[in-house]
Amino acid sequence: MRLSGKVALITGGSRGIGFATAKILSENGATVIITARNQERLEKSISKIPNSMGIAADIRNSNDVKNVVNKTIEKFGRLDILVNNAGIFPKIKQLHEIDEDEWNEVLDVNLTGQFRFTKEAIPHLQKTSGSIINISSDAGIKAYQGFNADAYSASKAALILLTKCWALEYSKDKIRVNCICPGVVDTDMTKPFLKTQKDKEFMNSEHPIGRIGQPDEIGKAVLYFASDDASWTTGAVLTVDG
Ligand code: NAP
Repeated sequence: MRLSGKVALITGGSRGIGFATAKILSENGATVIITARNQERLEKSISKIPNSMGIAADIRNSNDVKNVVNKTIEKFGRLDILVNNAGIFPKIKQLHEIDEDEWNEVLDVNLTGQFRFTKEAIPHLQKTSGSIINISSDAGIKAYQGFNADAYSASKAALILLTKCWALEYSKDKIRVNCICPGVVDTDMTKPFLKTQKDKEFMNSEHPIGRIGQPDEIGKAVLYFASDDASWTTGAVLTVDG
């Protein structure tokens, strides 16, 4: 098993890409800790993942984040893999239509939240020469006509550069830091854009391979970065976008 003996923490692991990732890492031998706000959904999710634990936490709250990392170490004694996956998508509006609270909310979850978890995890990853996988987005790489989710795009672009900064900063500790940029994936986040057959056909046609992605197709890329198959890969940005 590629991740035997490894302990992996996945933020936003209760559904969508995070849940699929948690399942795949667990199937490959890792002990998996997932976090999200909704306790009930966390419990449902861990019931479907062998060797897993759920800890409710709001990524916007530093004490919650510390608690997740502390409990992980108390229970399992180590941390090898951090998947910075939790994220939110704002209402589509042009920049001049959003207020500062809407802007700050997206940055707080999608960017400062990743900072909070990474900061707490680093001292433990230094001990295991662990690995961090950041889930960014195609929207962090290029602008799309009519996309109009600027705070989201800014947060995802920042995460791409932070991947490279952290990879350099912690290379002396042999911590690898890599990033995945998904295209449109079939999750709760994208449901509002896939309501009608016409919406679905449009989204499928936006991807040259002719369809949107499934969450496990991102999880498999996370598995690659988390495993020794990527032992000489750090600071990499992989688009997984059909
Ligand atoms: P999703 O289905 O909406 O799931 C989001 C996860 O994040 C949930 O587990 C949610 O749980 C958690 N979360 C949200 N706000 C949180 C908070 N304040 N504190 C803690 N956890 C929080 O999203 P997804 O589509 O799987 O997306 C996962 C990641 O992939 C995100 O970073 C997203 O930006 C990125 N991405 C997605 C797509 C796509 O097409 N789906 C494309 C590119 C990139 P709770 O609500 O219970 O907290």
